[in-house]
Amino acid sequence: MKLLEPQPIDGTASILGEGPVWLEASSELVWVDIEGCKICYMNMKTRNIRTIQTKNRIGAAVPHRDGGMLCAMEDGIYLFDGKTSKFQQISNTESDQPSNRFNDGKCDPQGRFWAGTMSLVGDRSAGALYRMELDGTVNKVLDNIGCSNGLAWSVDGAEMYYIDTFSGNIKRFDYCLATGEISNMRVAAAIHTDFGYPDGMTIDCEGMLWIAHWGGGRVSRYNPYTGECMEEVHLPAKLITSCCFGGEELDELYITSARVGYTEKMLEQEPYAGYIFKYKPGVKGLPVQLADVTILTDK
Ligand code: ZN
Repeated sequence: MKLLEPQPIDGTASILGEGPVWLEASSELVWVDIEGCKICYMNMKTRNIRTIQTKNRIGAAVPHRDGGMLCAMEDGIYLFDGKTSKFQQISNTESDQPSNRFNDGKCDPQGRFWAGTMSLVGDRSAGALYRMELDGTVNKVLDNIGCSNGLAWSVDGAEMYYIDTFSGNIKRFDYCLATGEISNMRVAAAIHTDFGYPDGMTIDCEGMLWIAHWGGGRVSRYNPYTGECMEEVHLPAKLITSCCFGGEELDELYITSARVGYTEKMLEQEPYAGYIFKYKPGVKGLPVQLADVTILTDK
């Protein structure tokens, strides 16, 4: 078991950093600060950071095939046009539930956009998981979700992995690439309570899952077929939220963290809370899957 302490990369701390994505074309790492209402871009060659302010909390931002970013916000899904810096609402999913917000989101290997919601008032069953189809319509797939997180698909696209953070485990489904339907839910791995709560996740090219542990101060590598924890990477921050592969060779793991609710005293003890960390795990990841959904403007 490796026990390392990767140091943070330059930058400013997010309140609730989440959803890192590597943009290969521009060598940029993108992440969201959910509570800071920001999309953050960091050019890893120049280390320059630019931030885009959002009108309310943003749970995820993923690149769209035609440019721009699909953004899962408090009141639905938006397209952010990087050239004009304008947001356009393309789905009003859950706009009728003001005490919910969108959380983590990702695209399947066909470019459908999956994103889930969670309660802002502590209701542990008010959330849901949605799938934006290739034609731009949105369907609810799972109900009674506490905090929707951690999507990943197997390298061959035949399985989907999912985390409802409060469940404390990683779910595994059979996946139909043709329709986006999931079936045959079972537990891929149960996470020990010492590890905190499972949050965001990514998959490497060997089909193993990298899990971020909220409250657990680490990321870990899990085998979804055996449920075995193969590696732990300890970090100098407790609230670890998500991770993605990046770098020119896709051999670097970028890890987001949070400082939400921290007092000054806690920040003195944990000054790197909310920073981005980088780690070389010795295995490569997969390129980000772009969204390929049709943009419907009449919602
Ligand atoms: Zn998360």
